[in-house]
Amino acid sequence: MLKEEIRKKLIAVVGEENFDDSKVGRLAYSFDATPNFQAMPDGVVSPRNTEEVSSLIKICNEYKIPVVPRGTGTNLCGGTCPTEGGIVFLFKHMNKILEIDEENLTATVQPGAITLDLINAVEAKGLFYPPDPGSMKSSTLGGNINENSGGLRGLKYGVTRDYVIALEIVLPNGDIMRSGGKLAKDVAGYDFTRLFVGSEGTLGIITEATLKLVPKPETKKTMLALYQDLEAAARSVSKIIASKIIPTTLEFLDQATITVVEDYVKIGLPTDAKAVLLIEQDGSPEVVQKDIEKMTDICKSENAVSVQVAQSDEEAEQLTTARRWALSALARLKPTTILEDATVPRSEIANMVKAINEIAKKYDLNICTFGHAGDGNLHPTVPTDARNKEEMERVEKAFEEIFIKAVELGGTITGEHGVGIMKAPYLELKLGKEGIAAMKAVKAALDPNNIMNPGKIFAKDSRKRVVVGK
Ligand SMILES: Cc1cc2nc3c(=O)[nH]c(=O)nc-3n(C[C@H](O)[C@H](O)[C@H](O)COP(=O)(O)OP(=O)(O)OC[C@H]3O[C@@H](n4cnc5c(N)ncnc54)[C@H](O)[C@@H]3O)c2cc1C
Repeated sequence: MLKEEIRKKLIAVVGEENFDDSKVGRLAYSFDATPNFQAMPDGVVSPRNTEEVSSLIKICNEYKIPVVPRGTGTNLCGGTCPTEGGIVFLFKHMNKILEIDEENLTATVQPGAITLDLINAVEAKGLFYPPDPGSMKSSTLGGNINENSGGLRGLKYGVTRDYVIALEIVLPNGDIMRSGGKLAKDVAGYDFTRLFVGSEGTLGIITEATLKLVPKPETKKTMLALYQDLEAAARSVSKIIASKIIPTTLEFLDQATITVVEDYVKIGLPTDAKAVLLIEQDGSPEVVQKDIEKMTDICKSENAVSVQVAQSDEEAEQLTTARRWALSALARLKPTTILEDATVPRSEIANMVKAINEIAKKYDLNICTFGHAGDGNLHPTVPTDARNKEEMERVEKAFEEIFIKAVELGGTITGEHGVGIMKAPYLELKLGKEGIAAMKAVKAALDPNNIMNPGKIFAKDSRKRVVVGK
């Protein structure tokens, strides 16, 4: 519970109406989309502008109270779970698209703006903001920036990081700083913009962002390639890229996922296929047509049993929407859904998928795998039940082995969901002791009192020494 003195100071900044330390209010922000993590904050504040954020953070810094910035809590790494209590900062008042600059091709937004609202607003002007996480209907741009989120269009267009060109940041001591600008070039000092993208709320609070836009592609086409052999699907991915085509989207779904998604969306997905590739290309009509034809040939040469090109925009939209709903569909199976995002070089996709299937067998688990095959970013997902302790232990061991395998194959423990609290114990696998020490030094320099989202990214204990095969 907050001391009365601190309560009064926080309320003096935002007013009673934007401060909540009732049990119900705190309970509502004690968890996020990540299963199995819950902890009560001491209070929740909703600042209305940057100056209020700065005043609030100064109070938290003075009393060494944890600050947990929160968008809509859709992260999948426990990133907004207030594990050490403290104050949750909400951005429901700071949710505007401030400007769409058609001359400089930029959009300037507040952190609480919803991703899809920005995408729709810029498309209405013939422009394009490519990062499209599956959660874009509800996720915020502040959350996307802090997780460096990816999406279905990441293969061709990159991830959130590639579009953030300027930030307004409130540092843990309350200072308000700006990095970058509406600039194509800027090498003035350290690249703070890049440092803050993906920093998971551990370095400061982002109160404004300027994002790069590109012209909206003239047209797009979508196709589905069906396989009876997982490795043939994985080989097609490598072969498409090797043939110098970069499709907008190159997604993979295994049979378990296709079956569950079809049961949810009922659009006639091929549940008898062992694997499906969902492929999309955009650009000028001539290039799109040529690429689709070439990719059809490649998929067929790799024994795709069927290749179907969507005949209308509606059909194409249905297919991509079905893919976006994969997680929601899987979440219907059991009370708990654990989804990971191990990522490997795309040339290792086949090996990773094979390893996941072997690990699933070894631990007697139903692991459904889907993901951004073109990026090497897979989402092995286990529908389970957190109340079944014995099964949860098997799930945890299986994921440890999956992370270890991904790193062995030259990959990483997370491609887009962030480290948060969930993957903190595995970070050393990827970075080594030296990497962790360097990152902690940056954190300590900016946040010496460790108030910003404490307990995230860095773990007390490492799982580095897990031995595969035991
Ligand atoms: C169904 C579903 C599908 C998903 N699909 C994808 C996908 O395709 N690709 C992908 O990358 N992710 C995906 N995600 C994960 C998640 O949606 C993303 O991580 C998203 O960016 C989180 O946005 P949010 O607004 O919910 O942020 P939150 O979850 O509220 O916060 C995320 C992180 O950002 C920090 N933060 C938020 N706002 C600020 C701020 N203003 N300043 C400083 N720190 C801040 C928080 O402290 C936290 O560490 C999916 C999640 C779900 C539930």
